[in-house]
Amino acid sequence: MTSYDYDLFVIGGGSGGVRSARVAAALGKKVAIAEEYRYGGTCVIRGCVPKKLFVYASQYHEHFEDAAGFGWDVGASSFNWKKLIAAKDAEIARLEGLYKKGLANANAEILETRAELVDAHTVRLIKTGQTVTAKTIVIATGGRPNEHLALPGHDLCISSNEAFHLEELPRSIVIAGGGYIAVEFANIFHGLGVETTLVYRGAEILSRFDQDLRRGLHEAMTEKGIRILCHDTLEKVSKSDDGLQVETLRNGTLNADVVLLALGRVPNTEGLGLEAAGVKTDQRGAIVVDEYSRTSIDNIYALGDVTDRVQLTPVAIHEAMCFIETEYKNNPTKPDHDTIATAVFSQPEIGTVGLSEEEAGRRYKELEVYRAQFRPLKATLSGRTEKMIMKLIVDAASRKVVGAHILGHDAGEMAQLLGITLKAGCTKDDFDRTMAVHPTAAEELVTMYAPSYRVRDGQKV
Ligand code: NDP
Repeated sequence: MTSYDYDLFVIGGGSGGVRSARVAAALGKKVAIAEEYRYGGTCVIRGCVPKKLFVYASQYHEHFEDAAGFGWDVGASSFNWKKLIAAKDAEIARLEGLYKKGLANANAEILETRAELVDAHTVRLIKTGQTVTAKTIVIATGGRPNEHLALPGHDLCISSNEAFHLEELPRSIVIAGGGYIAVEFANIFHGLGVETTLVYRGAEILSRFDQDLRRGLHEAMTEKGIRILCHDTLEKVSKSDDGLQVETLRNGTLNADVVLLALGRVPNTEGLGLEAAGVKTDQRGAIVVDEYSRTSIDNIYALGDVTDRVQLTPVAIHEAMCFIETEYKNNPTKPDHDTIATAVFSQPEIGTVGLSEEEAGRRYKELEVYRAQFRPLKATLSGRTEKMIMKLIVDAASRKVVGAHILGHDAGEMAQLLGITLKAGCTKDDFDRTMAVHPTAAEELVTMYAPSYRVRDGQKV
């Protein structure tokens, strides 16, 4: 029998890689994991976690304003970008340490190097040039921002990676894109006092989300003072005397200190030795996997963003746990990518699970749509005009709730719980017989008794 240096070698120390290495090692497997940058991956180092800390930071000016309506006199306030960056960096370093500690405690070998495949069982550690062998290999190298090389002046722009380490808070920013990252950063920078313009090629931001929420968020962002230019794209970015100059297709020239490109993310597969090992990739460079996350080579798996299935941290972690079941517990388990709850940490937030009204209209003959739009209690005294939107999409035939969508404070927190109800296949009758929690905004979800309207054959009736 062939003997290998390791039972498992994991390339990439992000959410999917660390989880598979740690759990396999805890099962007694001989495991090594290699990471070329920092343990924690995109989520911890330059994604979800620092982003959420920035979101909190950007909300304080509204909190200070709102306080007046409740009798508080907050006085003068000021914001210090460098202090925020330092505090964020300290927290990220702490989390990175925890990731490594978890691996070390499980007896996984932690390698701080890039690793590339030599063949189906051999990996080269770039720092030392040493090669090691493994029975099973997991590729979890994640993705990186699309640099948009076709845009003249793309090299003058930043991506979300750099947004976490800007030396100074810019006075103005142009953000290209209409997805999660563009929308979240537009709200963050605006909240921190930066003059913010979003340029999006489509008709409405956040394609694939429910149209009501997209429109509602657009209006709320515009009302706050964020400029949103739809149906437009960047044509050229160049240096000006006072920062950057952006030529757009339809809105002429924009000036800004910083231009942030948030145009999707591409899988990290270049130079990984995939061809040498026989691992197939698709046209976008993503690793092709079967339903068990197995690549075209039997002993090599790929997890998370590098496979470009659903680019979300919890999905990568779930795929890792399924890999463990399949490979080490004799229990072949396919990742379940159906009905994934998700949040956009915009201001107001979006929390959503299941099908948008538009998508449900294509799949079901008749829908009942329950929709509520209201001013949250806190806004009565704070004086904010912001409205919350809640929406349940129900298949009229089965009464099953097939989509739930929220725009407003804590929508992300609510989406997590709605995720359970939709995953469990709850019907509208289950919602109706659930007692409300009063006074909350979420109670609206169980008190919408009559449909607001119906959708038949995709048409509102
Ligand atoms: P998204 O896929 O969400 O959005 C990409 C945006 O860029 C879309 O608006 C898209 O337009 C636009 N776009 C793509 N190519 C071009 C182009 N050539 N010219 C002009 N516009 C273009 O990607 P993000 O970069 O925002 O985020 C990457 C992934 O990270 C997300 O898909 C998400 O899964 C994950 N993420 C999750 C977060 C969360 O859970 N809260 C937060 C941040 C990221 P169009 O819609 O028309 O295709």
